Amino acid sequence: MVKNIAVIHGDGIGPEIVDEALKVLNKVAELFGHRFNYTYVDMGGCAIDKYGDPLPASELKKCLESDSVLLGAVGGNEWNDVPANMRPEKGLLRLRAGLGVYSNIRPIKIWKQLAEASPLKKSIVEQGIDFIIVRELIGGIYFGEHKTEGDTAIDVLRYSEYEIERIGRIGFEAAQKRNKKLCSVEKSNVLDSSRLWKKVMHRLADEYPDVELSDMLVDNCAMQIIKNPAQFDVIVTENMFGDILSDEASMITGSIGMIPSSSLGATACGLYEPIHGSAPRIAGQDKANPLGTILSAAMMLRFSFEMAEEANAIENAVSAYLDAGFRTADIMSDGTKLVGCRECGKLIVHNLRKD
Ligand code: NAD
Repeated sequence: MVKNIAVIHGDGIGPEIVDEALKVLNKVAELFGHRFNYTYVDMGGCAIDKYGDPLPASELKKCLESDSVLLGAVGGNEWNDVPANMRPEKGLLRLRAGLGVYSNIRPIKIWKQLAEASPLKKSIVEQGIDFIIVRELIGGIYFGEHKTEGDTAIDVLRYSEYEIERIGRIGFEAAQKRNKKLCSVEKSNVLDSSRLWKKVMHRLADEYPDVELSDMLVDNCAMQIIKNPAQFDVIVTENMFGDILSDEASMITGSIGMIPSSSLGATACGLYEPIHGSAPRIAGQDKANPLGTILSAAMMLRFSFEMAEEANAIENAVSAYLDAGFRTADIMSDGTKLVGCRECGKLIVHNLRKD
């Protein structure tokens, strides 16, 4: 199969982690007889420096013409003082909106080899951490009006029934493929948008009788993720709550550097990226963990290219790497072997097999 992938290296550790993911994709292509063509796209701070715009129309067009997009991360202190609508992260929001990718899926799973790296008590980790967060990605407060009038700042949070319903369906369908438990997270004791969210979720529940729907307030959910993560199967929530909860949830698995994500809309063209940012403090030092990006590439193969076998091969290679005791600095523990970003990528390539 031939697939055209738009590749966004971005800023900070972005170029390092994406390069390792490309090495892994190249090896997959070689083993399984595919061809991946890469089109390089500038987005984020590097695009501001080059074009004065975090995502010029010409760069977005390259993404729209591709079969999927692989992204590292954007942002950094160098661009802190640029106007708000020109910040690196604006490029990312525009990319997500331009691609129409309204559903973001973040698997929160602890690798058995990393139980020691979780900050949670062993007794909690042993109960299992394996759930997914389905986050609405192109609505809510991040996409509402933002303005500052004198000493007052305003950010608008709005959701329509249509927007809630389409992400709700993704949540129910994801639960159907797993353990059939969906937890809808909102703040309906305070927010109108959350009351609408809850109403739509319960209306949809009639269409998915095999799925057990529960409601949870977001503040309680933040506590429950720490206290009893084993209770969750699929969480569905709005944009900002999902952003915050998934960072929190990533930490209980050991490191934010391990978690991939997929974002999809109405077509097979998806956006695949690790959930972390550009980690400027460790950029350019060969210290970053590239596994979140490598596992995002695996999600791209599975969800956009229907290459499940190839995706499994990458996940097995990661598991073999962890079994052998290799760790980047973020997941180091006693008795493990420290490797850098490049060595990690090289070892994953080395472990790749076609069974
Ligand atoms: P961050 O995710 O970049 O870093 C948080 C912490 O995790 C840091 O200690 C960092 O060193 C560590 N970390 C993150 N990824 C890692 C990896 N792969 N390997 C090892 N350690 C890793 O979040 P931040 O520091 O709040 O933000 C830094 C910049 O990234 C900001 O400019 C922010 O706006 C941007 N950002 C971008 C995205 C994105 O591109 N999707 C997401 C979040 C933040």
